[in-house]
Amino acid sequence: MFADLHLHTNFSDGTYTPEELAGHGRRVGLKAMALTDHDTVEGCARMAVACEVNGIEFCPGTELTAEVDGIEVHILGLFIDIENPEMQVEMAKFQDVRQKRIYEMVARLNEKKIPLKPEAVFKIANCRSPGRPHVARALVAEKYCTSLDEAFERFLKKGKAAWVPKFKISAFDAIRLIHVAGGLAVLAHPALNRSDEVIPDLVRAGMDGLECFHSKHTQHVSEHYLQIADKHGLLVSGGSDCHGMSKNKPLIGSIKLPIHTYNKLKEARDELRARRAAVV
Ligand code: AMP
Ligand code: ZN
Ligand code: FE
Ligand code: FE
Repeated sequence: MFADLHLHTNFSDGTYTPEELAGHGRRVGLKAMALTDHDTVEGCARMAVACEVNGIEFCPGTELTAEVDGIEVHILGLFIDIENPEMQVEMAKFQDVRQKRIYEMVARLNEKKIPLKPEAVFKIANCRSPGRPHVARALVAEKYCTSLDEAFERFLKKGKAAWVPKFKISAFDAIRLIHVAGGLAVLAHPALNRSDEVIPDLVRAGMDGLECFHSKHTQHVSEHYLQIADKHGLLVSGGSDCHGMSKNKPLIGSIKLPIHTYNKLKEARDELRARRAAVV
């Protein structure tokens, strides 16, 4: 019995629909799945239905891009109330920033004599939370690049001509927002952001858990983060971060979080909600 608590659909930069994702979840034997699209919860309603159809427990979530001490960190909100008004208002702002950023990235490409149109990116993205992968797909579709890797290497990677920094909320605000929405705040893929030095600050800010298991973490790295989680009394999470088909094989199924670890997260969510209810 396993869970995957970090997954994307075409409501952000994944390629699968919620129905396809849930179908793949069943195929690889998952018993619980979280949807964690970037800066949106729009896919959660459909994912909830699709999971039910497939006999999978659903955990509504999101992945927020945040910042602490100048370091970018991604914070997963798990078990959030997708109808929380404050969360919805903030997410609408993040989505607005993402859409404006697409225009800026395209303008920079145009300066480099790549006549890509913003509409081409928005058509491919077809969602409110567009990002660099959609620009990359548009560059390939319009034959300005031969692969997504080439698009990132030539134009979109940090420091390249069309790279535009993204507005990030403070990690402390992200954690607070997730708690307001009744969820657990989990630091995503800590190894990818060189974030070890900020973990103590995040713990002080109330962060609940650490994504020790991730498709880009080696076993050694996972063990390192299990130790850190133990040291700080953090919950353990894990997910594949599947964005759909990549290198001929989707990442879903590559991370199998034991269901008892998932159940510990659920217990913590219940305690958090009981504490909040007692305060109100
Ligand atoms: P954004 O949120 O718009 O800055 O885009 C970040 C997303 O781009 C990440 O979630 C990755 O999936 C993807 N990404 C970042 N770097 C690369 C890369 N070098 N090649 C392919 N995808 C990348
Ligand atoms: Zn992504
Ligand atoms: Fe991420
Ligand atoms: Fe992700």
